[in-house]
Amino acid sequence: MPLVPSHVASLSPYVPGKPIEEVEREYGVTGVAKLASNENALGPSRLAVAAAREAAAKVNLYPDGSAFLLKNALAAKLGVRPEEVMVGNGSNELIELLVRTFVLEGEEVLTSAQSFVAYKLAAQEHGRTLVEAPMKARFHYDLDALRKLLSRRTKVVFLANPDNPTGTWFSEAELVPFLDAAPKDTLVVLDEAYVEFVDAPGFQDALALRKKHPNLVVLRTFSKIFGLAGLRIGYGIARPELVEFVDRVRPPFNVNLVAQAAGVAALDDADHVERSRALVRAERPFLAEGLQALGATVVPSQGNFVMADFPGRPGKELFEALLREGVVVRPLAGYGFPTAQRITTGLRAENEKCLAALRRVLAA
Ligand SMILES: *Cc1c(COP(=O)(O)O)cnc(C)c1O
Repeated sequence: MPLVPSHVASLSPYVPGKPIEEVEREYGVTGVAKLASNENALGPSRLAVAAAREAAAKVNLYPDGSAFLLKNALAAKLGVRPEEVMVGNGSNELIELLVRTFVLEGEEVLTSAQSFVAYKLAAQEHGRTLVEAPMKARFHYDLDALRKLLSRRTKVVFLANPDNPTGTWFSEAELVPFLDAAPKDTLVVLDEAYVEFVDAPGFQDALALRKKHPNLVVLRTFSKIFGLAGLRIGYGIARPELVEFVDRVRPPFNVNLVAQAAGVAALDDADHVERSRALVRAERPFLAEGLQALGATVVPSQGNFVMADFPGRPGKELFEALLREGVVVRPLAGYGFPTAQRITTGLRAENEKCLAALRRVLAA
Protein backbone atom coordinates (compact mmCIF):
# COMPACT_ATOMS: atom_id res chain seq x y z
CA MET A 1 0.00 0.00 0.00
CA PRO A 2 1.56 3.40 -0.91
CA LEU A 3 2.17 5.74 2.01
CA VAL A 4 0.42 8.67 0.29
CA PRO A 5 -1.83 9.01 -2.75
CA SER A 6 0.04 9.54 -6.03
CA HIS A 7 -1.34 13.10 -6.36
CA VAL A 8 0.40 13.94 -3.08
CA ALA A 9 3.64 12.13 -3.95
CA SER A 10 3.87 14.16 -7.17
CA LEU A 11 3.29 17.58 -5.56
CA SER A 12 6.02 20.20 -5.45
CA PRO A 13 5.44 22.50 -2.51
CA TYR A 14 4.91 26.25 -2.84
CA VAL A 15 8.21 28.15 -2.77
CA PRO A 16 7.85 31.31 -0.66
CA GLY A 17 10.04 34.41 -0.88
CA LYS A 18 13.26 34.10 1.10
CA PRO A 19 12.87 35.64 4.58
CA ILE A 20 15.11 38.61 5.42
CA GLU A 21 16.76 36.89 8.42
CA GLU A 22 17.70 33.90 6.29
CA VAL A 23 19.35 36.08 3.65
CA GLU A 24 21.27 38.00 6.33
CA ARG A 25 22.48 34.74 7.89
CA GLU A 26 23.43 33.00 4.66
CA TYR A 27 25.00 35.90 2.81
CA GLY A 28 26.41 37.95 5.67
CA VAL A 29 24.63 41.10 4.50
CA THR A 30 22.51 43.60 6.42
CA GLY A 31 19.83 46.10 5.46
CA VAL A 32 18.22 43.61 3.11
CA ALA A 33 15.55 44.90 0.72
CA LYS A 34 12.90 42.20 0.45
CA LEU A 35 11.06 42.76 -2.78
CA ALA A 36 10.03 39.14 -3.17
CA SER A 37 6.52 38.69 -1.82
CA ASN A 38 4.42 41.72 -2.77
CA GLU A 39 4.20 42.83 0.83
CA ASN A 40 3.29 46.37 1.82
CA ALA A 41 6.50 48.44 1.95
CA LEU A 42 4.90 50.97 4.33
CA GLY A 43 4.29 48.27 6.92
CA PRO A 44 0.97 47.51 8.57
CA SER A 45 -1.63 50.07 9.55
CA ARG A 46 -0.79 51.48 12.96
CA LEU A 47 -4.41 51.12 13.99
CA ALA A 48 -4.25 47.43 13.08
CA VAL A 49 -1.08 46.93 15.10
CA ALA A 50 -2.67 48.61 18.14
CA ALA A 51 -5.75 46.39 17.82
CA ALA A 52 -3.55 43.31 17.46
CA ARG A 53 -1.62 44.23 20.62
CA GLU A 54 -4.80 44.62 22.55
CA ALA A 55 -6.18 41.35 21.22
CA ALA A 56 -2.94 39.57 22.15
CA ALA A 57 -3.91 39.91 25.82
CA LYS A 58 -6.91 37.68 25.16
CA VAL A 59 -5.35 34.82 23.28
CA ASN A 60 -6.21 32.35 26.01
CA LEU A 61 -9.67 32.46 24.41
CA TYR A 62 -10.65 30.79 21.17
CA PRO A 63 -11.48 33.24 18.40
CA ASP A 64 -15.05 33.96 17.36
CA GLY A 65 -15.53 31.07 14.95
CA SER A 66 -18.14 33.04 13.02
CA ALA A 67 -15.85 36.10 12.71
CA PHE A 68 -18.93 38.21 13.39
CA LEU A 69 -17.27 41.61 13.73
CA LEU A 70 -14.88 41.12 10.83
CA LYS A 71 -17.60 39.89 8.47
CA ASN A 72 -19.88 42.75 9.48
CA ALA A 73 -17.14 45.32 8.99
CA LEU A 74 -16.35 43.88 5.55
CA ALA A 75 -20.00 43.75 4.58
CA ALA A 76 -20.53 47.38 5.57
CA LYS A 77 -17.43 48.47 3.68
CA LEU A 78 -18.34 46.57 0.51
CA GLY A 79 -22.09 47.12 0.53
CA VAL A 80 -22.93 43.42 0.72
CA ARG A 81 -24.71 41.33 3.36
CA PRO A 82 -22.65 39.63 6.10
CA GLU A 83 -24.01 36.25 4.90
CA GLU A 84 -22.25 36.92 1.59
CA VAL A 85 -18.82 37.15 3.21
CA MET A 86 -16.43 34.26 3.89
CA VAL A 87 -13.10 34.70 5.63
CA GLY A 88 -10.03 32.51 5.53
CA ASN A 89 -6.53 32.08 6.86
CA GLY A 90 -5.30 34.11 3.92
CA SER A 91 -7.20 33.99 0.64
CA ASN A 92 -4.95 31.05 -0.07
CA GLU A 93 -7.04 29.02 2.34
CA LEU A 94 -10.21 30.11 0.57
CA ILE A 95 -8.74 28.95 -2.76
CA GLU A 96 -8.20 25.53 -1.23
CA LEU A 97 -11.58 25.48 0.51
CA LEU A 98 -13.38 26.29 -2.74
CA VAL A 99 -11.76 23.30 -4.41
CA ARG A 100 -12.34 21.05 -1.39
CA THR A 101 -15.97 22.08 -0.99
CA PHE A 102 -17.15 22.12 -4.57
CA VAL A 103 -14.99 20.08 -6.93
CA LEU A 104 -15.99 16.42 -7.12
CA GLU A 105 -13.87 13.62 -8.46
CA GLY A 106 -13.96 13.74 -12.25
CA GLU A 107 -14.71 17.47 -12.29
CA GLU A 108 -12.22 20.09 -13.42
CA VAL A 109 -10.51 23.21 -12.15
CA LEU A 110 -9.88 25.69 -14.96
CA THR A 111 -7.33 28.50 -14.92
CA SER A 112 -4.66 30.19 -16.99
CA ALA A 113 -1.23 28.65 -17.40
CA GLN A 114 1.60 30.67 -15.85
CA SER A 115 -0.74 32.35 -13.37
CA PHE A 116 -0.84 32.19 -9.55
CA VAL A 117 0.45 28.76 -8.57
CA ALA A 118 -1.96 28.34 -5.63
CA TYR A 119 -4.79 27.43 -8.04
CA LYS A 120 -2.78 24.61 -9.52
CA LEU A 121 -1.64 23.37 -6.10
CA ALA A 122 -5.20 23.43 -4.76
CA ALA A 123 -6.40 21.23 -7.62
CA GLN A 124 -3.43 18.88 -7.42
CA GLU A 125 -3.46 18.38 -3.67
CA HIS A 126 -7.09 17.34 -3.84
CA GLY A 127 -6.40 15.01 -6.75
CA ARG A 128 -8.61 17.07 -9.05
CA THR A 129 -8.06 17.60 -12.75
CA LEU A 130 -6.45 20.89 -13.68
CA VAL A 131 -7.14 22.42 -17.08
CA GLU A 132 -5.03 25.38 -18.15
CA ALA A 133 -5.44 27.77 -21.08
CA PRO A 134 -2.17 29.12 -22.45
CA MET A 135 -1.62 32.84 -22.03
CA LYS A 136 -1.84 35.00 -25.11
CA ALA A 137 0.79 37.45 -26.31
CA ARG A 138 2.40 39.78 -23.80
CA PHE A 139 1.58 37.57 -20.81
CA HIS A 140 -2.16 38.26 -20.82
CA TYR A 141 -4.94 35.92 -19.77
CA ASP A 142 -6.71 34.60 -22.86
CA LEU A 143 -10.39 34.75 -21.95
CA ASP A 144 -11.45 33.37 -25.34
CA ALA A 145 -9.22 30.33 -24.93
CA LEU A 146 -10.52 29.88 -21.39
CA ARG A 147 -14.10 30.08 -22.63
CA LYS A 148 -13.44 27.35 -25.19
CA LEU A 149 -12.13 25.09 -22.42
CA LEU A 150 -15.35 25.35 -20.39
CA SER A 151 -17.04 21.97 -20.28
CA ARG A 152 -19.76 20.22 -18.32
CA ARG A 153 -17.01 19.03 -16.00
CA THR A 154 -15.66 22.53 -15.21
CA LYS A 155 -16.58 23.19 -11.57
CA VAL A 156 -14.35 26.04 -10.46
CA VAL A 157 -12.54 28.62 -12.56
CA PHE A 158 -9.78 30.76 -11.05
CA LEU A 159 -9.05 34.09 -12.71
CA ALA A 160 -6.49 36.42 -11.16
CA ASN A 161 -7.13 40.01 -12.13
CA PRO A 162 -4.67 41.71 -11.96
CA ASP A 163 -2.59 38.61 -12.45
CA ASN A 164 0.33 37.43 -10.36
CA PRO A 165 3.18 37.05 -11.33
CA THR A 166 2.76 38.92 -14.63
CA GLY A 167 0.92 41.99 -13.31
CA THR A 168 -1.26 42.05 -16.44
CA TRP A 169 -5.02 42.55 -16.33
CA PHE A 170 -8.10 41.97 -18.44
CA SER A 171 -11.04 44.32 -18.91
CA GLU A 172 -14.66 43.84 -17.97
CA ALA A 173 -15.43 43.73 -21.69
CA GLU A 174 -13.18 40.68 -22.01
CA LEU A 175 -14.60 39.07 -18.88
CA VAL A 176 -18.32 39.39 -19.60
CA PRO A 177 -18.51 36.97 -22.59
CA PHE A 178 -16.71 34.41 -20.45
CA LEU A 179 -19.20 34.89 -17.60
CA ASP A 180 -22.08 34.63 -20.08
CA ALA A 181 -20.71 31.33 -21.37
CA ALA A 182 -20.02 29.74 -17.97
CA PRO A 183 -22.71 27.25 -16.87
CA LYS A 184 -24.62 28.43 -13.81
CA ASP A 185 -23.18 25.70 -11.60
CA THR A 186 -19.62 26.55 -12.56
CA LEU A 187 -18.12 28.83 -9.94
CA VAL A 188 -16.08 31.64 -11.44
CA VAL A 189 -13.60 32.87 -8.84
CA LEU A 190 -12.21 36.32 -9.53
CA ASP A 191 -9.09 36.72 -7.42
CA GLU A 192 -8.68 40.45 -6.83
CA ALA A 193 -5.71 40.39 -4.45
CA TYR A 194 -4.31 43.54 -6.11
CA VAL A 195 -7.52 45.35 -7.02
CA GLU A 196 -6.74 48.33 -4.78
CA PHE A 197 -3.67 49.19 -6.87
CA VAL A 198 -5.47 49.25 -10.22
CA ASP A 199 -5.65 52.53 -12.08
CA ALA A 200 -6.50 51.21 -15.56
CA PRO A 201 -9.84 52.29 -17.00
CA GLY A 202 -12.31 49.55 -17.94
CA PHE A 203 -11.43 47.34 -15.00
CA GLN A 204 -14.21 45.07 -13.78
CA ASP A 205 -16.64 45.99 -11.05
CA ALA A 206 -16.78 42.46 -9.72
CA LEU A 207 -19.28 43.17 -6.98
CA ALA A 208 -21.73 44.67 -9.47
CA LEU A 209 -21.26 41.75 -11.88
CA ARG A 210 -22.48 39.40 -9.14
CA LYS A 211 -26.05 40.62 -9.65
CA LYS A 212 -26.25 39.07 -13.10
CA HIS A 213 -23.82 36.24 -12.34
CA PRO A 214 -24.64 34.59 -9.00
CA ASN A 215 -21.96 31.98 -9.68
CA LEU A 216 -19.27 34.66 -9.27
CA VAL A 217 -17.02 34.47 -6.22
CA VAL A 218 -14.75 37.45 -5.50
CA LEU A 219 -11.60 36.89 -3.45
CA ARG A 220 -9.59 39.63 -1.79
CA THR A 221 -6.94 39.80 0.90
CA PHE A 222 -5.54 41.79 3.80
CA SER A 223 -2.03 40.70 2.77
CA LYS A 224 -1.29 43.34 0.15
CA ILE A 225 -2.62 46.88 0.51
CA PHE A 226 -3.59 46.38 4.17
CA GLY A 227 -0.09 45.14 5.02
CA LEU A 228 -1.21 42.20 7.16
CA ALA A 229 0.34 39.28 5.27
CA GLY A 230 1.81 37.85 8.46
CA LEU A 231 -1.58 37.62 10.15
CA ARG A 232 -3.15 35.63 7.29
CA ILE A 233 -6.59 37.06 6.48
CA GLY A 234 -8.38 36.72 3.20
CA TYR A 235 -12.01 37.14 2.36
CA GLY A 236 -14.48 36.16 -0.28
CA ILE A 237 -17.81 37.50 -1.44
CA ALA A 238 -20.29 34.98 -2.75
CA ARG A 239 -23.98 34.16 -2.51
CA PRO A 240 -24.96 32.97 0.99
CA GLU A 241 -25.58 29.38 -0.09
CA LEU A 242 -21.97 29.07 -1.25
CA VAL A 243 -20.60 30.68 1.91
CA GLU A 244 -22.59 28.22 3.95
CA PHE A 245 -21.18 25.21 2.14
CA VAL A 246 -17.63 26.48 2.67
CA ASP A 247 -18.53 26.95 6.35
CA ARG A 248 -19.25 23.25 6.65
CA VAL A 249 -15.80 22.34 5.37
CA ARG A 250 -13.53 24.99 6.86
CA PRO A 251 -11.72 24.45 10.16
CA PRO A 252 -13.82 25.99 12.95
CA PHE A 253 -11.35 28.74 13.96
CA ASN A 254 -9.59 29.36 10.67
CA VAL A 255 -9.03 33.09 11.23
CA ASN A 256 -7.35 33.68 14.56
CA LEU A 257 -8.34 36.13 17.26
CA VAL A 258 -5.50 38.61 16.71
CA ALA A 259 -6.09 38.61 12.96
CA GLN A 260 -9.80 39.29 13.31
CA ALA A 261 -9.19 42.31 15.55
CA ALA A 262 -6.45 43.71 13.33
CA GLY A 263 -8.55 43.19 10.21
CA VAL A 264 -11.44 45.21 11.61
CA ALA A 265 -9.08 48.05 12.56
CA ALA A 266 -7.28 48.00 9.20
CA LEU A 267 -10.56 48.44 7.34
CA ASP A 268 -11.03 51.69 9.23
CA ASP A 269 -7.60 53.07 8.39
CA ALA A 270 -8.41 54.86 5.16
CA ASP A 271 -5.29 56.97 5.49
CA HIS A 272 -2.98 53.94 5.49
CA VAL A 273 -4.75 52.47 2.48
CA GLU A 274 -4.47 55.75 0.60
CA ARG A 275 -0.77 56.14 1.35
CA SER A 276 -0.13 52.54 0.35
CA ARG A 277 -1.93 53.00 -2.94
CA ALA A 278 -0.15 56.27 -3.66
CA LEU A 279 3.25 54.73 -2.94
CA VAL A 280 2.67 51.86 -5.38
CA ARG A 281 1.29 54.10 -8.09
CA ALA A 282 4.34 56.35 -7.80
CA GLU A 283 6.99 53.64 -7.42
CA ARG A 284 5.64 51.25 -10.07
CA PRO A 285 6.63 53.51 -12.99
CA PHE A 286 9.88 54.49 -11.26
CA LEU A 287 10.92 50.87 -10.90
CA ALA A 288 9.71 49.93 -14.39
CA GLU A 289 11.61 52.76 -16.04
CA GLY A 290 14.74 52.00 -14.05
CA LEU A 291 14.59 48.36 -15.07
CA GLN A 292 14.02 49.23 -18.69
CA ALA A 293 17.02 51.51 -18.63
CA LEU A 294 19.04 48.47 -17.53
CA GLY A 295 17.89 46.52 -20.59
CA ALA A 296 15.07 44.52 -19.02
CA THR A 297 11.75 43.94 -20.73
CA VAL A 298 9.15 45.10 -18.23
CA VAL A 299 5.57 43.89 -18.42
CA PRO A 300 3.08 46.71 -17.70
CA SER A 301 1.65 45.96 -14.24
CA GLN A 302 -1.45 46.86 -12.27
CA GLY A 303 -0.16 45.21 -9.08
CA ASN A 304 2.35 46.29 -6.43
CA PHE A 305 5.12 44.52 -8.37
CA VAL A 306 6.52 44.25 -11.86
CA MET A 307 7.69 41.28 -13.89
CA ALA A 308 10.98 42.02 -15.62
CA ASP A 309 12.67 39.78 -18.14
CA PHE A 310 16.44 39.83 -18.49
CA PRO A 311 17.15 38.08 -21.80
CA GLY A 312 20.12 35.73 -21.59
CA ARG A 313 20.21 35.91 -17.78
CA PRO A 314 19.12 32.61 -16.18
CA GLY A 315 16.70 33.54 -13.41
CA LYS A 316 18.27 31.60 -10.57
CA GLU A 317 21.74 33.03 -11.19
CA LEU A 318 20.52 36.60 -11.31
CA PHE A 319 18.40 36.00 -8.21
CA GLU A 320 21.41 34.68 -6.30
CA ALA A 321 23.69 37.48 -7.45
CA LEU A 322 21.11 39.94 -6.12
CA LEU A 323 20.92 38.07 -2.80
CA ARG A 324 24.64 38.66 -2.36
CA GLU A 325 23.86 42.36 -2.81
CA GLY A 326 21.18 42.19 -0.12
CA VAL A 327 18.23 42.36 -2.50
CA VAL A 328 15.60 39.61 -2.55
CA VAL A 329 13.42 39.28 -5.65
CA ARG A 330 11.45 36.33 -6.98
CA PRO A 331 12.79 34.26 -9.87
CA LEU A 332 10.03 32.93 -12.10
CA ALA A 333 11.52 29.85 -13.77
CA GLY A 334 8.92 27.74 -11.96
CA TYR A 335 6.24 29.67 -13.84
CA GLY A 336 7.86 28.98 -17.19
CA PHE A 337 9.61 32.35 -17.35
CA PRO A 338 13.25 31.19 -17.21
CA THR A 339 14.87 34.64 -17.39
CA ALA A 340 12.27 36.73 -15.56
CA GLN A 341 12.11 38.09 -12.01
CA ARG A 342 9.12 39.48 -10.15
CA ILE A 343 10.06 42.55 -8.17
CA THR A 344 7.78 44.12 -5.58
CA THR A 345 7.57 47.92 -5.60
CA GLY A 346 9.26 48.92 -2.36
CA LEU A 347 10.03 52.27 -0.80
CA ARG A 348 12.00 54.61 -3.05
CA ALA A 349 15.26 53.74 -1.23
CA GLU A 350 14.62 50.01 -1.66
CA ASN A 351 13.85 50.39 -5.34
CA GLU A 352 17.03 52.43 -5.78
CA LYS A 353 19.00 49.78 -3.93
CA CYS A 354 17.55 47.12 -6.22
CA LEU A 355 18.35 49.08 -9.38
CA ALA A 356 21.89 49.85 -8.18
CA ALA A 357 22.49 46.19 -7.32
CA LEU A 358 21.19 45.12 -10.72
CA ARG A 359 23.44 47.63 -12.44
CA ARG A 360 26.49 46.15 -10.71
CA VAL A 361 25.45 42.54 -11.25
CA LEU A 362 24.57 42.99 -14.92
CA ALA A 363 27.89 44.79 -15.58
CA ALA A 364 29.98 42.08 -13.89
C1 LIG B 1 -0.89 37.46 -2.67
C2 LIG B 1 -1.99 36.82 -3.43
C3 LIG B 1 -3.08 36.30 -2.77
C4 LIG B 1 -3.25 36.48 -1.29
O1 LIG B 1 -2.75 35.50 -0.55
P1 LIG B 1 -3.06 35.48 1.02
O2 LIG B 1 -3.20 34.01 1.26
O3 LIG B 1 -4.32 36.23 1.27
O4 LIG B 1 -1.87 36.08 1.66
C5 LIG B 1 -4.10 35.73 -3.50
N1 LIG B 1 -4.04 35.70 -4.84
C6 LIG B 1 -3.03 36.21 -5.51
C7 LIG B 1 -3.05 36.20 -6.99
C8 LIG B 1 -1.96 36.77 -4.82
O5 LIG B 1 -0.92 37.25 -5.49
